Amino acid sequence: SLQTDDLLTVQDVHVGFGEFTALDGAHLRIARGGITGMVGPNGAGKSTLFNVLGGQQAHQGGRVLFDGQDITHWSVHRRAQAGLTRTFQISREMGALTVLENLLLAAPRQPGEKLWHALLNTAAARQHEAQAMAQAQALLERVGLWRLAHERADSLSGGQKKLLELCRALMLKPRLVLLDEPAAGVNPVLVGEIADFIRSLQAEGMSFAIVEHNMDMIAALCDPVYVLAQGKVLTQGSFAQVSAHAQVVEAYLGG
Ligand code: ADP
Ligand code: MG
Repeated sequence: SLQTDDLLTVQDVHVGFGEFTALDGAHLRIARGGITGMVGPNGAGKSTLFNVLGGQQAHQGGRVLFDGQDITHWSVHRRAQAGLTRTFQISREMGALTVLENLLLAAPRQPGEKLWHALLNTAAARQHEAQAMAQAQALLERVGLWRLAHERADSLSGGQKKLLELCRALMLKPRLVLLDEPAAGVNPVLVGEIADFIRSLQAEGMSFAIVEHNMDMIAALCDPVYVLAQGKVLTQGSFAQVSAHAQVVEAYLGG
């Protein structure tokens, strides 16, 4: 009964904040191996949807399936272990740490987090640490940030911070990454580099959903594109298809 091409399915999800309805019966599908775009005006519910998928926001109705399993009541941690994660802006606290420290802190913990400190001096803990270090170095080299490994994260440019946010998510070896506005505040050259990086990760089998206002990035990377408005999916299809949709042009793209 499950469509095997769907890595993630959102069925009739509702989120209300008091009287206000942020998601009003959202339905969508994220294809395995694809890059799914999400666009829509401010307040459409895009970030709320990502919070629901990541497990940061409970929903009142509907359900979310990941790889055929109902994850509606799963914790953030359990979702991440299953391969579903989202990016987060580098917080003020993380900004004061180095680029490398940001990645090492994003590494998955040993099973049983309470044991972590007790394990610190064991061979197993040292091996785990060495693996995280090797993974962090490889990621930073790949995105050209290794030379900045010991700089504070808040000293990076907007685009470098976006790459760091993505690398933090990649430390968890995810299968699906949710990217909330990866091009926001990024100069056009680095937007192209970020897009290339996402495409090369896709070529390795990773799947993505991207919320973005930068239509060049959406057009270059995403198929299908979902258009959200007022907590619902207004339309979906290829970028060319949704661009041609009169309501979309009126509600968003033409504005
Ligand atoms: P988008 O990311 O598409 O701009 P959001 O998902 O951030 O939209 O927000 C959708 C609507 O829900 C907005 O009107 C926003 O003000 C409201 N909203 C989001 N989070 C909360 C919250 N925690 N409490 C109250 N209202 C919220
Ligand atoms: Mg948002």
